[in-house]
Amino acid sequence: MEDILKILVVDDDRVDRLAVRRSLQKAGIRVELSEASDARNAIALLQNTHFDCIFLDYLLPDRDGLGLIQELYSMGVKVPTIVLTGQGDEQIAVEMMKAGASDYLSKTRVSPETLAQTLRNAIRIDRAQKAAELANQRLKASNELLQHQNQELEKQRQQIQLQNLQLQEAYRLKSQFLATMSHELRTPLNAIMGFSQILLRQYPDPLTPQQTEIVQRIINNSQNLLILLNEVLDFSKLESGQLTLEPEEFNLAILVQITVEELRSLALQKQLSLQVDLNLKNPLVVNDQNSLRRILINLLSNAIKFTDSGSIWVKVWELNPDRVAIAVRDTGIGIASEHLETIFEAFRQVDGSLARQHEGSGLGLAITNSLVKMMQGTIAVESQVGKGSAFQVELPRQIDRN
Ligand code: ADP
Repeated sequence: MEDILKILVVDDDRVDRLAVRRSLQKAGIRVELSEASDARNAIALLQNTHFDCIFLDYLLPDRDGLGLIQELYSMGVKVPTIVLTGQGDEQIAVEMMKAGASDYLSKTRVSPETLAQTLRNAIRIDRAQKAAELANQRLKASNELLQHQNQELEKQRQQIQLQNLQLQEAYRLKSQFLATMSHELRTPLNAIMGFSQILLRQYPDPLTPQQTEIVQRIINNSQNLLILLNEVLDFSKLESGQLTLEPEEFNLAILVQITVEELRSLALQKQLSLQVDLNLKNPLVVNDQNSLRRILINLLSNAIKFTDSGSIWVKVWELNPDRVAIAVRDTGIGIASEHLETIFEAFRQVDGSLARQHEGSGLGLAITNSLVKMMQGTIAVESQVGKGSAFQVELPRQIDRN
């Protein structure tokens, strides 16, 4: 309270007003004092000037203090008000405080000390109230802001949910399109292959050596295309959950041997040695034969495809009576560590460029991975660039029907 305080004394008694002025001066409080002798003048002053405090006589010629306080309140004038009462007017003072007055002081007790103390208290309380009000307003504002942000978040959440649904639908349509297209393309492709084979029979007219080579190329390329189409078809079936496993009991050692022999010619063409190490005490497993064959073909054909010289090994063994392992190892180009995880994703190839050396859809490992998962198995890869790769699949001896 070091600043100069603007004080209004409302009292019709000039002597009483003077008493207040003197007491404040004596108390050493720096004040700028204004005076009003009735309610009308007081209101006029309060409408134009901001005051820090009002000393208000209860009995005014044109109105009582209670009425004045109420009117000021309704006008939105909020100034700490100290009521000066006559002796025995305590009850009235209490009423005035209920109406909004800050404190009261009996005129008989007016002295520099009491006045200063009452004034200080009234102003301190008023400032504290205003600070609390301001804090409250800020709290309310930040509350409203939070509510608004919450609504925005909820809106965004709903939008994301909608986009998610649209994405899911687009994804489903894409898979359906892939499945339909690859299915539809297989029919004309089979016709091309069939007619080419008829041509190769060279009956009734023989073909020139050049024609024979061309027809053979048509057949080879059609076979490659058929493999690609089948991969896309299998993949879209796996994605849409249409592919189910049909478990049956069979001899794993025989399946591995037959599959390796089917692909041996490919290895021979590249002069790669292809070795098989079967180490099963009990070769019988319960699994989906076709799918397991698929896994073997994918791993083995990759090993052959990505190896230019050296060897390929296929090893089968028992991890324990309930689990079997199949490993396919090569001395090929290897895979850099940063690609080891992504190669299992659909359409991912270490060399995805159009100028790449090796053919392929990029679906083989994605299909293998999905099938292994469906069989409740695991697949892992270890590889070193320039040295070779080793893929290891571990499967339960007996899979569940799903
Ligand atoms: P792709 O049709 O290209 O063979 P895959 O899904 O079977 O598709 O394999 C994905 C990629 O993983 C391949 O393009 C290749 O970059 C890498 N890869 C898979 N197997 C081997 C391997 N034995 N040696 C080196 N790279 C491999």
